[in-house]
Amino acid sequence: MSNKRFTLALHGGAGAKRGHDYAVEIAHMRGLVEAARDRLAAGAGALDVAVETVVALEASGLYIAGKGASPNADGEYELDASLMDGATLRAGSVAALQGFESPILAARAVMEKTPHVMLAGEGAMAFARAQGLKAIDDPATWFTQAGAFEDNTAALPTGTVGCVVRDGEGRLAAATSTAGVFGKLPGRVGDSPIIGAGAWADGHAAVSCTGQGEYFIRTAVASQIAHRVRFGGESLETAAQAAIQGVAELGGHGGLVAVDRDGNVAMPFASSGLKRAALLPDGTIVAEAF
Ligand code: ASP
Repeated sequence: MSNKRFTLALHGGAGAKRGHDYAVEIAHMRGLVEAARDRLAAGAGALDVAVETVVALEASGLYIAGKGASPNADGEYELDASLMDGATLRAGSVAALQGFESPILAARAVMEKTPHVMLAGEGAMAFARAQGLKAIDDPATWFTQAGAFEDNTAALPTGTVGCVVRDGEGRLAAATSTAGVFGKLPGRVGDSPIIGAGAWADGHAAVSCTGQGEYFIRTAVASQIAHRVRFGGESLETAAQAAIQGVAELGGHGGLVAVDRDGNVAMPFASSGLKRAALLPDGTIVAEAF
């Protein structure tokens, strides 16, 4: 069943607003897919490519994650991120992290340098500092807030970045990073750093989610999809659509990107749009917002 064909998909959040021109984001996402494709062709592993891609999404300032983060109700920046390696089921995450450029690198360090899966708040900050991760000197000037307010169709505008990869050896990985929903209460943690909700990877599927995180936590969207594939025998597309439908039925909105072990890609959304791009099994690249 396994093939050498690597595939990947990434997203820049479900908060795409109708009428807005996302040409810059679409070109950026396409470029990242091309770069990831070249890395995979050279033999890079799924986890490395997923993390590198999310680091680039965070650093761009184009999405509500990393440099483009929006503040919470107190005007502070509390960021969440997680990643999972499908080949080993290892995972790492940070929640309500303040003061660091790349939450996904902090999540990776949690996975690789501690016996834990998740660090939050002050503890996450102290750990990131001890790891020598790049700190933000002045949040007021560093964050661009480029993406804030972009989805005015929802009470709480949203935006997140993520990437899922199937490498040439058939290994899967997922990574997700966010500033959460705009205007969130201090200390609020969404789905993005919760393994099984905002990110999941095992031997069957890798998933990265975006949208109103509370609904994704309540329905364990990311692991639900992999389990539908694994235990229910559903196709990736059917499983991903069903999980997003479950979010919509509760009154939530959002979308996700997913790949399975055969290299299939699914990118369903129940929201005004989903900034997304993918390398499909036939080698074509798609990049779109609606
Ligand atoms: N899912 C994220 C959260 O709830 C937000 C988003 O994807 O826009 O924190």
